[in-house]
Amino acid sequence: MRDGGLPYDYDFIVIGSGFGGSVSALRLAEKGYRVAVIEMGRRWTPETLPESNWSLARWLWRPALGLRGFFALRLFRHVMVLHGNAVGGGSITYGATLMVPPDSVWDEGTWAGLVDWKKDLPAHFETAKRMLGVTTNRILGRADTRLKAMAEAEGLADTFFPTEVGVFFGEAGDPPGSNYSDPFFDGAGPARSSCIGCGGCMMGCRHGAKNTLDKNYLFLAEARGAEIMAETKVVDVRPIGNSPEGATGYEVRTCSSTRFFGGLTKRLSCRGVVFAASSLGTQDLLFRLKQGGSLPRVSAALGRHLRTNAESLIGVRYPGSVEDFSEGIAIGSGIQLDRHTQVQAVRYPRGSDALGVLLTVMAPGSSGSMRILAWLWALLRLLATRPVATLRTLLPFRFARETIIFLCMQNLEGELTMRLKRPWYWPFRKALVTEGQAIPTSIPAANAFACKVAEATGGIAANSIVETLLNVPTTAHCIGGAVMASAPEAGVCDGRNRVFGYRNMYICDGSVLSANLGVNPSLTIAALTEHAMSQIPEAAHQTWTAEAGQP
Ligand SMILES: Cc1cc2nc3c(=O)[nH]c(=O)nc-3n(C[C@H](O)[C@H](O)[C@H](O)COP(=O)(O)OP(=O)(O)OC[C@H]3O[C@@H](n4cnc5c(N)ncnc54)[C@H](O)[C@@H]3O)c2cc1C
Ligand code: SF4
Repeated sequence: MRDGGLPYDYDFIVIGSGFGGSVSALRLAEKGYRVAVIEMGRRWTPETLPESNWSLARWLWRPALGLRGFFALRLFRHVMVLHGNAVGGGSITYGATLMVPPDSVWDEGTWAGLVDWKKDLPAHFETAKRMLGVTTNRILGRADTRLKAMAEAEGLADTFFPTEVGVFFGEAGDPPGSNYSDPFFDGAGPARSSCIGCGGCMMGCRHGAKNTLDKNYLFLAEARGAEIMAETKVVDVRPIGNSPEGATGYEVRTCSSTRFFGGLTKRLSCRGVVFAASSLGTQDLLFRLKQGGSLPRVSAALGRHLRTNAESLIGVRYPGSVEDFSEGIAIGSGIQLDRHTQVQAVRYPRGSDALGVLLTVMAPGSSGSMRILAWLWALLRLLATRPVATLRTLLPFRFARETIIFLCMQNLEGELTMRLKRPWYWPFRKALVTEGQAIPTSIPAANAFACKVAEATGGIAANSIVETLLNVPTTAHCIGGAVMASAPEAGVCDGRNRVFGYRNMYICDGSVLSANLGVNPSLTIAALTEHAMSQIPEAAHQTWTAEAGQP
């Protein structure tokens, strides 16, 4: 009961339904807590997902412009971030690659030494893998076989691997697209179909084969009574009662994220809160709550150690090709270029060409403003030697079937700081802005590799236009900003995801990651959340007197 004898609406409110939020919701519901998950994105079904990303209103998320899709792009001074907004968070738009990072990452960054990670986490990684149905990719498309051939030509054949993915491939011998009653959770999960290798994973999978969170963690959480409030945005969280550190619970205010009229603010009460709104979402919310006086005790380290997974998106385009590079699964294979650099072969499904507008010819071996000159020179040279192919490369049409996208990631250091302030170009409202040293926009080894592939196979090496012309790297793996640390001077939460300065308050999403992983981060977010949730007692034994975040 709340102070004054009023009941709490929920035991825990989870903000966001991505990898951290879904794991939290299920584990808390299993422990007997009354859970609400508040998610500002929409709920999607195979019937409502768009057929291609030319359906901008159902692909892009920018509700103020009437775009209510599941994929967002945000351009900052130092980085362009791609991320997901939906019931199921980034899992609806993600490429379903679920990789365990190398052990070395636990010795780096502010989480080093907080927990015996190498001993404690493997069990949680195994649980997360089982829940997310991780398996080795069985469908190698043309992009994958070409990556393999190039790896062989470069003497890197032994580093080639089919990706570990959260995709259901069905029983060996059954045709693609076969229907199954729940194959994962002894009948407690939803019916599924097996993958047909259409390359559409990043458009949400309309075939019931991608293991999105609404088919595992969230589905089971709902079955256990967790309430999911879609298209609802959390705008305030503040302690209630007489405890400034939240020992007597919190009031959470929400509003509609998609309606601008008639969307009244609601107030909900709870004993505990899990921030799981993604790296950007949690930072945005916590900054507003700290600066607005709702949660003033949140550490001043908020916004520090924001990382991009040291990423670069490049590609090779084959204008006019009869081969279809969109076949397979979104991220089908990878190679290790060197100790620090991994390259994965990525694709969009046939017809989903809209992202092609962001690709231009590559200007390798240059950086900063020199890169623009190098780009102009490369463009002119190509226009002179291969005019038709070059013009086709500059147009988005047929982008998906003609392009192998290379996602390059490094586990090298490089970080930014995020702040909430009034940007000079829009002084009416505070917004997140990045500060700090620019992170390198290109990975020379990966660029050289793409150029070699292009030369050997008659393609045109390509690069993100934002990287080339604005000198801003692009990442789909924005992490950190509310990192784990031993004390509030260095981070925002402890090694059990408990927020310093508050009780029964957790952060379970990509913002807690404290080092560049060099691999796709979702599995690590799920495993860390499994670890955090395993430390919370069953509801029947909960006293709500746990200490605020502790070293
Ligand atoms: C195109 C693309 C492909 C990707 N492919 C892969 C991949 O193959 N493998 C991989 O590991 N990662 C991939 N990622 C990255 C992956 O999606 C993220 O790392 C992951 O989803 C982050 O999980 P999270 O728990 O931090 O938050 P998210 O999954 O981002 O979920 C956070 C949720 O919180 C909601 N939210 C935010 N603010 C509020 C608020 N105030 N109130 C209510 N709700 C709120 C958001 O709408 C969102 O749904 C990809 C990303 C993109 C964009
Ligand atoms: S390749 Fe197609 S069917 Fe397979 S998981 Fe991706 S979208 Fe679904």
